[in-house]
Amino acid sequence: MDDEGRVVVVSNRAPSIFTRPSAEERRSLPVGGLVSALRPFLEASGGIWMGWDGNSDGQEGATSTTITEVEGINLASVSLSRDEVRGFYDIFSNRTLWPILHGFPDKATISYDSYPVYRSVNRKYAASLIDLLKPSDLVWVQDYHLLPLGHELRKLGWTGKIGFFLHVPFPPPEIFGILPWARKLLTLLFDYDLVGLQTQKYVHNLQEALGDEFGAVLIADTVHYQGRTLTAHSFPVGADADAFREMTLSQAPTPVSRFLENSPKGRQLLIGVDRLDYTKGIIQRMQSIERLFDDHPELLGRVTLFQISAPSRVNIPEYAQERERLDSLVGKINGKFGEVHWMPIHPLHRSFSQQDLAHLYREADACLVTPLRDGMNLVAKEFIASQTSDPGVLVLSRFCGAAESMQDDALMVNPYDFQGTASAIYRALTMPRPERQRRWEALFEDVSRHTARAWCYSFAAALGDA
Ligand code: UDP
Repeated sequence: MDDEGRVVVVSNRAPSIFTRPSAEERRSLPVGGLVSALRPFLEASGGIWMGWDGNSDGQEGATSTTITEVEGINLASVSLSRDEVRGFYDIFSNRTLWPILHGFPDKATISYDSYPVYRSVNRKYAASLIDLLKPSDLVWVQDYHLLPLGHELRKLGWTGKIGFFLHVPFPPPEIFGILPWARKLLTLLFDYDLVGLQTQKYVHNLQEALGDEFGAVLIADTVHYQGRTLTAHSFPVGADADAFREMTLSQAPTPVSRFLENSPKGRQLLIGVDRLDYTKGIIQRMQSIERLFDDHPELLGRVTLFQISAPSRVNIPEYAQERERLDSLVGKINGKFGEVHWMPIHPLHRSFSQQDLAHLYREADACLVTPLRDGMNLVAKEFIASQTSDPGVLVLSRFCGAAESMQDDALMVNPYDFQGTASAIYRALTMPRPERQRRWEALFEDVSRHTARAWCYSFAAALGDA
């Protein structure tokens, strides 16, 4: 295998899952998103993907790693102890950085004990990786969990290229500045040859934060500070549009397709597909649905919202509270409008396969993608990729990264404005077919050109040239 120009991807979690096709256990790669995008790349270059193995039985500080080939990809895993998982993952990544980066400072935990663990786990990743690297490798670090990794690799003597991609938003500087470690974290970014963000707006926010914090000067697209430089560009992540297209055309029956076939004719279907996360605006979406039925009683018995809320970070109190609030609101709305033969909201608190999602997307009259804040939102793009004839309408929050390329042809909403969102949903349900077709064609053109794979190639090419 040619080792020239290998891509070495590092993410919080290694992309490997265990399946039991028979009694025998074997490892396989999950489908979708980042894995589909990076797979051809890693296969062609003989690269490595490193990440945490997902367990908490590792030894604190231990840096030994094993490489396993799974479906043609070399996976290297990092093991973490219970305390490392807690400080690095549960607290600093998910209860401190996640809410701040999404602009929810009230939900952020400022824990002085977890920051040193975040840093030491990043040192551990670096120490585990350094011996696996070859001088011509391109190291590509994924997301907020591993922001300090480039710096730690430099400290160990790595002089090759390193890129960092932030999958979540970068907030306005006054929000990022709430972090007591804001200045330190920004300094660490100077060790990367290229920083990628989802949108122009996030690039601008980052450049502003660097200007505010250091008085750094922006020349062309590069920030200069005391002889050091930081180049940041936007690389919007795309969906695996071809895979969704193919799954949409598959005739194999699924529980979802059977349910849809048995639904009464003329009933319209709205869908929401999210992880159960407070950033996704699911509660606000339910309030808009209540408003919709209050304003348009003629829709009672004729429109159902299928809301998939896949469990996520269930150990974190803010997520448990979100689930309780959602359950109580859905109960209230279903109790208020429901009939023996019909309920306005069909809540599903579990995760569905992408095959099921493809069928659901195809059949939906409208997809409600209404996050309060979201780095990109792939559901919006997957929905568009999965439409066939008689396309449905995308109702999209102006506060997600996907808005940057989809705002002209989706129905844009402010998810905090229930009345406005309810009106947009009504418009989607009553939109004439020629208008639906025209909007979908424009969106489909964008989604099928800017795929997950195209994103991957453009970032790696820019890193290679950096
Ligand atoms: N997804 C899935 N099953 C589910 C719900 C979601 O496979 O039950 C997938 C969905 O197809 C999409 C991803 O999870 O690819 C969600 O990505 P998105 O960018 O919308 O949000 P994130 O969860 O990354 O914040």
